[in-house]
Amino acid sequence: MIREDFIAWVMRRKTKECFAFENSGTLEPPPAPDKPIHLYIHIPFCAELCPYCSFHRVQFSESQAREYFHALKKELRMYHERGYAFSGVYIGGGTPTILPEELLGLIDNLQKDFSPHEISVETNPDRLDVHLLKMLADAGVKRVSVGIQTFSDRILKSVGRYDKYGSGTVLKQKLMEAKGFVNTLNADMIYNFPIQTAEMLEQDLDILTDVGPDQITFYPLMVSDITRGRMKSLMGNVTHRTEKLFFHQILSRLEEAYQPGSAWCFSKRGTSMIDEYIVMNDEYVGAGSGAFGLVGGGIYANTFSLQAYGRLIDQGKFPLFARKLFSVRELAGYAFLMGLFGLSLDLESFRRRFGAPLWRLIGPETLFFLLAGGVRIEGGKLRLTRRGRYYWVVMMREFFTGVDDFRDLSREAAGIQKL
Ligand code: SF4
Repeated sequence: MIREDFIAWVMRRKTKECFAFENSGTLEPPPAPDKPIHLYIHIPFCAELCPYCSFHRVQFSESQAREYFHALKKELRMYHERGYAFSGVYIGGGTPTILPEELLGLIDNLQKDFSPHEISVETNPDRLDVHLLKMLADAGVKRVSVGIQTFSDRILKSVGRYDKYGSGTVLKQKLMEAKGFVNTLNADMIYNFPIQTAEMLEQDLDILTDVGPDQITFYPLMVSDITRGRMKSLMGNVTHRTEKLFFHQILSRLEEAYQPGSAWCFSKRGTSMIDEYIVMNDEYVGAGSGAFGLVGGGIYANTFSLQAYGRLIDQGKFPLFARKLFSVRELAGYAFLMGLFGLSLDLESFRRRFGAPLWRLIGPETLFFLLAGGVRIEGGKLRLTRRGRYYWVVMMREFFTGVDDFRDLSREAAGIQKL
């Protein structure tokens, strides 16, 4: 674990630098790129707020959510008027399906203004039914990702999901019924809960292989500075010692029927795959409160305050509150991280994009991972090895934890309750 601990330490430092935003009063997005890019839309409302979660989420209130969807449509119109074009859309949260008719209205607007090739929607199991899936498929949604997390009743009860989102048996049933409506049905899973044992994980894997969703995303539990204390009082310390063992347990169970789509995503052989938008896209816009965008060589964040979000949109202003412009070296580092998270990096495309070979911009890191057996060069690509997949789980865990810490601070500054 010394190597993994070192990788985690370096990644933590790099992420801190990456998220050292220059705060600013009112910001404008950069000029529209000359080709369509991706769009991320954030819907922050949830019926139940899970204790381990550091996403930007708030307790559901119907009137507030309706106002929010209204503002969101205006924000997207502003991007349209600026000449932005979007080829793909990822709607995440929170719970995007919390008000199905509002979500469908939003998708209708997206289709009219941008005609994206693909739309991916996250949902919680309590909002998942056959009727909604049919409507989403008819509206052009290609991928639905269901937040299962685990089928273990003991863990579900400990994190407060059992009553609101259903027992392990209910979750299995819901997932079973959801098959076959969209191109890709993804089960979002979490492993390495402090009370989880190898047997409990094995049970999750048994159910998943039995149900056979098109795609499974298995994240390690990620805790920010704030959620770490909360999880400790509920379940005990979150340790990374079991994470590696569990990851290899997952790999060996899933690799027979699923092929890797990213370091922690598994897709059924022969199915079309839409993986995480940050892997597949060099640039994307973030819309909605607390959303991030990476566009025009910089990372942008929207305000985390729902009140400020609504007010700024009403005034016809973009709700952007922070920006960090990247150097070429930083952008190249980001492309290296995300490319290999998606399993390979094309060396010629990298050289064309950054005007210099990988060795000149990311030399020490590449050499480190070559020597550590995490990557290999093959067919003009740098490819992640089996060992490297776990290194990248560590890197992405630290990256997303850094993002979560930034979210926590921003939410606190916006006066949002901690739970
Ligand atoms: S884990 Fe999902 S349901 Fe729970 S608070 Fe976070 S976004 Fe909401």
